[in-house]
Amino acid sequence: MHEVGMMQNILDAAVKRAKDEGAQHIRLVQMRVGEASDVMPDSLEVAFDVAKKGTIAEDAKLQLENVPVVCYCSNCSIEFHPTSKLNECPECHQAYCEVRQGNEFELAFLEVS
Ligand SMILES: [Zn+2]
Repeated sequence: MHEVGMMQNILDAAVKRAKDEGAQHIRLVQMRVGEASDVMPDSLEVAFDVAKKGTIAEDAKLQLENVPVVCYCSNCSIEFHPTSKLNECPECHQAYCEVRQGNEFELAFLEVS
């Protein structure tokens, strides 16, 4: 389950940021997770519970913000929401268009005390 390693990185960054702010505890970790980032929300919850043990985030809650995929077609100069993994443009049907949004896997917000 690669979510554990990814979550470990996020949590390490969160703990560092909280400590830099002089916080004793992390109450809430909010993340932005793109639809195309290929992670399972359920696995993230489990990974979070594992990774937070023994850290200042031990009692923290995890909140996930889902970011929809947005692709851009350079032929048509339009942005669209792809309906398949091919990221096919709905106008000219060019496949593998540029993904502008949806690969996010990042820390969005921390609530500390
Ligand atoms: Zn197009």
